[in-house]
Amino acid sequence: MTEQQKIEAIVREVIAGMKGSAPAAPAASGSIPKTSRVAMLTEKEHFEIQEYPIPEIGDDDVLVKVEGCGVCGTDAHEFKRDPFGLIPVVLGHEGTGEIVKIGKNVTKDSAGKPLGVGDKVVTCMIFKDNPDITMFDLNKQNVGGADVYGLLPDDSVHLNGWYADYIVVRKGSTIFNVSNLDLDSRILIEPAAVLIHAVERAKTTDILRFNSRVAVQGCGPIGLLCIAVLRTMGIENITAVDGNEQRLEFAKLMGADATVNFRNYKDQDSLAAAVKDSFGGYLADFAFQCTGSPVAHSNIYKFIRNGGGLCELGFFINGGDATINPHFDICSKEITVVGSWVYTLRDYATTFDFLKRAKAIGLPLEKLITHKFHLADANEALQTNLRQDGLKIAIIP
Ligand SMILES: [Zn+2]
Repeated sequence: MTEQQKIEAIVREVIAGMKGSAPAAPAASGSIPKTSRVAMLTEKEHFEIQEYPIPEIGDDDVLVKVEGCGVCGTDAHEFKRDPFGLIPVVLGHEGTGEIVKIGKNVTKDSAGKPLGVGDKVVTCMIFKDNPDITMFDLNKQNVGGADVYGLLPDDSVHLNGWYADYIVVRKGSTIFNVSNLDLDSRILIEPAAVLIHAVERAKTTDILRFNSRVAVQGCGPIGLLCIAVLRTMGIENITAVDGNEQRLEFAKLMGADATVNFRNYKDQDSLAAAVKDSFGGYLADFAFQCTGSPVAHSNIYKFIRNGGGLCELGFFINGGDATINPHFDICSKEITVVGSWVYTLRDYATTFDFLKRAKAIGLPLEKLITHKFHLADANEALQTNLRQDGLKIAIIP
């Protein structure tokens, strides 16, 4: 055997070995299986892996092979307590995958880009008959009031959440062609959109500028993405506040240039002084509150200068009441406060460009995804999120 023949023999052997153990090739070019697994939440803290037939899709529907889906705080709440009363439910709304079958009426995505088999996609809200939900009308109505895949009760098709092998994207849904983003970036689209929206809300105050000093409190995935968005738009003076040193180190990777660990300060005043020190003796021009803690909400006013601004985005769900002093905290300081919740469709489209820019300036966003679990280990994935181990957890079928 010549050297060349030996190499070819080895290659043949390796390929033969792969065929035996590897999962089926992507279905775009090959065959679509008859059934799909889903992780069905059948009771609190319990996913059951179930298998359902993949239906024939209609002329307005799209069949997507799931490639990955992030675990959201919302999923963890539903998993543990069922506050939305969805059980039985296939969760997973931060998902992405590849189109394997497309109805003949679907030729473009929701932003007008061509769409076809093989394209990588994400979904956003599902339109109801609501004229106030439109594609490019900023702040007209945000997704908070709309349906999304992964937070729908189980139905007769079952494939309506992203913790699955396949999902059927049905007529009236928004779908975006994001083939130019890698898998990790696509998994981060939904949480990143929350920050694009928050920064858009912050900009309405007219206080946020390129040279603003900005404090970001809370360095979970949302706070870290907040820092990345600010950095990507050219804001340099960012101080991250958290109680976990590892997360504060991560904040620096995302673009914060100073960090303050609140555990090192015994009261509100000394904590505020530390934030002031981090900006060379100035309070923050603007602050983003990215925790769900009422105490953190009370503290943040002390970080902000007279005439400054605050965006509160940490309370996705009701986390209880917070105590503030209206005289000292808002009135006499003339602070402008905006709230931010979820995102609009327009923010979703803006997010795709943010992810490209973040990569271009070298922010290692993919490091935010600290854990990847197989679908069969969905229970462990959610428990890991509840333990607050790591940052973003993803489920990969
Ligand atoms: Zn989410």
